[in-house]
Amino acid sequence: KAFQEAETRGWHLYLVGGAVRDLLLADNEGQVLLEDIDLVVDGFHRSADVGAGVELAKALQQVYPAARLEVHGQFQTAALLWHNDPDLGSLWVDIATARTEFYPYPAANPEVEASSIRQDLYRRDFTINALAVRLTEPRAGELLDFFGGVLDLQSQQIRVLHANSFIEDPTRIYRAVRFAVRLGFEIEPQTERYIRHAIASGIYEQVQGKNGRAPALETRLKSELKYILQAPYWKAALNLLADLGALRCIHPTLELDKNLWWQVRLLARCLRRFDAQKSLEHWQMRLEVLIAYLATEYRGKVANNLQLPTDSIARLQNLDKAQFEVVENLPKCEQISKLVQLLRRYDLPTLILVAVKNPRFVRRNIWRYLTEWRNIKAPLNGNDLKALGYKPGPQYSKMLDVLLAATLDGVVCVNEASPQEIR
Ligand code: ATP
Repeated sequence: KAFQEAETRGWHLYLVGGAVRDLLLADNEGQVLLEDIDLVVDGFHRSADVGAGVELAKALQQVYPAARLEVHGQFQTAALLWHNDPDLGSLWVDIATARTEFYPYPAANPEVEASSIRQDLYRRDFTINALAVRLTEPRAGELLDFFGGVLDLQSQQIRVLHANSFIEDPTRIYRAVRFAVRLGFEIEPQTERYIRHAIASGIYEQVQGKNGRAPALETRLKSELKYILQAPYWKAALNLLADLGALRCIHPTLELDKNLWWQVRLLARCLRRFDAQKSLEHWQMRLEVLIAYLATEYRGKVANNLQLPTDSIARLQNLDKAQFEVVENLPKCEQISKLVQLLRRYDLPTLILVAVKNPRFVRRNIWRYLTEWRNIKAPLNGNDLKALGYKPGPQYSKMLDVLLAATLDGVVCVNEASPQEIR
């Protein structure tokens, strides 16, 4: 339908980006499930047609009323979304108008003079992501490979299209790492030199908004970080980012030294043990451990720049205080009830952050609190107290606290004591 709608208007329609890459990679391995499809419309001559992508999406929505339409006017793009459709499942189709002004280029650049689909592809990150398949006649099904993407797919290389690529958009460094690790490809040596050069020239200052905040860049960095830190390959990706010096995009002082690597691995163990249900955002906890490794004065700003939720920003800002209280007071807790009183003031993420940053004694007590002690309940509740004849009132919570403390410290045995004995 999309092809027909475009052809009727005399436009060309192309499948571009990741879908083409994944289809070509899947060639020998059978089927590929496409959930995210990028289409580009091109081939019009009137300036009025710059909104072609949006017009096509609107026309398609008339044909498929089950799809939700989203229009992003500023970039002349639209998206059609199907959610749990009986025929299509969940599908996201982005339709863009071939654009040539994504980044400002010198006017004399000969590439800019070429056809707009070629320019559109030239604006992309890597050769393997700059492939297109023509969907409309004439020559429907033709593969457009202007930059050697197919060869790079075959030789498993992540290669940028031009030397300035990482200077224009530092988040591409994170994308290079993501694709390299996910696909098991290599970052092509010249591309790696461009990355190192971009970092050495201080590109990370741009991400951190040294010359005024750059929210769009920060948003993109955050979404790339999230992508990487929630993927099954996050450890390998983090190591490669560190090896390239790219963690400096998070903060210039951030380095994955032995100590931080140890903390990151401890966190993985913690999350497996204490949050198997995934009530926490694991990717965010990984990021918080990285940020918590920075000097105190940088943590809030970095968390803020990366647009973390307010509770996460507050946790990182107050971490030193929590850590000081725990480390200072834990050795003084001679009874388990005192330790429980101390630790229950903090939420699970704070305790995990304190645990991974501290020596064995602190860690083991937090571990035991999280696995055993915090689950112990007083053997009676308010109703039981009432049944025992106590008048309801504020003293209830005090009595229950005393009972809980006695249970924790082994004075009252949960399973054996009868209410009468407790009384
Ligand atoms: P994935 O399967 O991980 O979603 P993808 O290639 O579809 O991979 P997207 O992030 O959805 O990745 O981006 C779609 C396409 O948009 C990419 O294939 C690439 O051509 C282009 N693109 C995305 N981000 C950038 C960027 N920062 N710079 C240049 N091109 C980009």
